[in-house]
Amino acid sequence: MSATKIIHSIPSDPLTGAISVPVYQTSTFIQEAPGVNKGFDYARSNNPTRKVLEDVVAQLEAGHSGFAFATGLAAIDAVLKLLSAGDEIVAVDDIYGGAYRLFTHVYEKLGVSVRYVDTTDVDNVAEAVTSKTNLIWIESPTNPTLKVSDIEAIATIAKSVNALLVVDNTFASPIAQKPIELGADIVIHSGTKYIGGHSDLVAGLVITKTVTLSEKLKFIQNASGGILGPWDCFLTIRGIETLDIRYKKQCENALKVALFLKEQEAVQEVFYPGLTSHKNHEIAKKQQSGLYGGIVSFTLKEDTQEGANRFVTNTNYFKLAESLGGVKSLLCHPAQMTHASIPRDIRLKAGIKDSLIRLSCGIEQAEDLIEDLSTTLQICNPAKELLFV
Ligand SMILES: *Cc1c(COP(=O)(O)O)cnc(C)c1O
Repeated sequence: MSATKIIHSIPSDPLTGAISVPVYQTSTFIQEAPGVNKGFDYARSNNPTRKVLEDVVAQLEAGHSGFAFATGLAAIDAVLKLLSAGDEIVAVDDIYGGAYRLFTHVYEKLGVSVRYVDTTDVDNVAEAVTSKTNLIWIESPTNPTLKVSDIEAIATIAKSVNALLVVDNTFASPIAQKPIELGADIVIHSGTKYIGGHSDLVAGLVITKTVTLSEKLKFIQNASGGILGPWDCFLTIRGIETLDIRYKKQCENALKVALFLKEQEAVQEVFYPGLTSHKNHEIAKKQQSGLYGGIVSFTLKEDTQEGANRFVTNTNYFKLAESLGGVKSLLCHPAQMTHASIPRDIRLKAGIKDSLIRLSCGIEQAEDLIEDLSTTLQICNPAKELLFV
């Protein structure tokens, strides 16, 4: 979908001609007679501002319908409500921590079992599925080491056992990747990240491929009620207006930053799917339309938490905070922040070393971001600084 199509998929207000979408801050709608209304009766079931957002994201992801939730996790929760006790999920082992917590501590208790496999190797998925598998759950790229899985190949496996393929497309965004076109049945997003794009809201989105799935999700959304409020729907729509230009600039900055880091003495390893050295680069190239996202992770030669701490507390433009995808650059130390709840040995197995640092590149000038990183590396490397004295 081109930037033109995205921008013009957002309708102006048919009632007043307002160029931007009005915020319908209302709980209920007047009926002419019982059950006779203008398509809206109660704001949990439907709201005109939310409807615009849901229609726009359905188009963005080439799906049948879209659904807006209060957070990304509420969106994930709504999809899991498609399951019953005894059902099985096969999920990517490098899954978002919040999704892992929800699967393990809420849904396993209710009788849903989950098997985690490294989905970057399609054979692992083929081996893990059984006749009881109802959902295959992947993220691509993953957080924070940016592993990429072959969506088309996994969709074929899902079909062979009658399971649904769900793709968490938060990191790729609909600008780089359209999972439904690659065979997925459901796409979810943390709208908090690239889609909102300004670090000013939390939101979640579900996009369904078929009418049947849309009807089920609509039922769950209304029955459980975890909807996104009208004001945050408005902000998310406003974010989508600039999604294409923001995401492309973030990708451009991230590639420059990744290439810079790769040349640095103090840096051990750089993770970015856009680098030919990344182990899933070929799959990323095949399914991500030449865009590899704004996230770059790297480890330091001095592989200690102290080393990482010194780095993340000395940057200027990169602000130390959780979350990603906004216009302002952020950085975080997964071992002590996003992945702190994961035991160290499991974390190390997933490639999240003590010194791993995750950068979320914003839309600043690439040169400024690189200068910030360069200065910080010098501050963290006093031995090298002595050479300049
Ligand atoms: C942040 C995130 C989520 C959860 O979204 P919230 O809006 O924080 O609830 C889910 N998946 C991925 C990949 C994320 O980065």
